[in-house]
Amino acid sequence: MSESRISVAVPSLDGNEKKYLNECIDENWISSAGKFIGRFEADFGRYVATSHAMTCANGTAALHLALAAVGVKEGDEVIMPTFTYVATANAVRYCGAKPVFVDCEEGTWNIDPSQIEKRITSRTKAIIPVHLYGHPSDMDPVMAIAKPHGIAVIEDAAQALGAFYRKRPAGGLGTISTFSFFGNKTVTTGEGGMVCTADPELAQRVKILRNQGMDPNRRYWFPEVGYNYRMTNLQAAIGLAQLERVESLLQRRAQVAARYREALRGTEDRFELPKVEDWAKHSYWMFSVVLSPKLKVSRDRVMEKMMERGIETRPFFYPMHVLPMYAESSEPYPIATSVAARGINLPTHAHLKDRDVDRVVSELKKVCEG
Ligand SMILES: *Cc1c(COP(=O)(O)O)cnc(C)c1O
Repeated sequence: MSESRISVAVPSLDGNEKKYLNECIDENWISSAGKFIGRFEADFGRYVATSHAMTCANGTAALHLALAAVGVKEGDEVIMPTFTYVATANAVRYCGAKPVFVDCEEGTWNIDPSQIEKRITSRTKAIIPVHLYGHPSDMDPVMAIAKPHGIAVIEDAAQALGAFYRKRPAGGLGTISTFSFFGNKTVTTGEGGMVCTADPELAQRVKILRNQGMDPNRRYWFPEVGYNYRMTNLQAAIGLAQLERVESLLQRRAQVAARYREALRGTEDRFELPKVEDWAKHSYWMFSVVLSPKLKVSRDRVMEKMMERGIETRPFFYPMHVLPMYAESSEPYPIATSVAARGINLPTHAHLKDRDVDRVVSELKKVCEG
């Protein structure tokens, strides 16, 4: 095959990334102090329209910090969708708490707000809506359910930088929110994360916890067990350069998604495409298709055959309730179980050409014929 390979995700590093990195080295600031940390945090906070944005080591650490900051402890319960990336559940377990799962909705594949209330107990301390693949969760009903119970809402916005819910940026909607800057995310720092909140007390807790729990007014005085979850100036330098170009990165993703939809028109009998609610702006971290159960070929075989044709794809996440450490026998979660087994993420990134998208779709149609 002479045609080049098409990857699922490719970082776009052709802005000021190299220039800012070189400044870190030239100025000898490569650790977790330095000018880029503050600049990245300030710009990110403006972008997400939140008063406090705090860098950290990665998106999982961001979730752990957010959970610890809102006071999740041993024996508590945290409600989340079963259909998410494993980090959401793992961070809850790091706090000694129990993840309590909820099925997803048809269409957006996000947490079904109508099934949250029945999972609330006296031990419920937080709800984590995850904006899956870049479509925001339906936040108003989630906030309305949480409020009378005094439960914190932590948005896992790792996949949703640039998404909007009713004209408000994802990550600025809950009590506190988290982002990831892993290499395949819309904005990357290699590894990295951010915690955002409008609450100054929560912000202070996050800053203390990510720095070993040190008393901010008394050097080397540690009144509690904290973490070293700091980001480096090198990572922040890349993040700042990425953020300068975030609009064009998002715009290209939106164009790629629109072209997928156009090329897949008339295939509704074979492929379910991601639904976009009229109140949502999708950030298209991943453009996905869910294969119809009527297709004769299995999801994994489709992915294998796409790979043989030089096109990398990715299966949907396994729902948390089937993983060994979170396995439950009594709760079926039928929608998440069904969608997760049939979903595929197609190549989605800012370097895709129109002809790449067309090639993905034409191969996908051929592969699914039989
Ligand atoms: C990527 C991701 C994370 C974790 O981020 P890392 O930076 O890889 O630790 C958490 N939640 C979701 C939904 C993610 O996609």
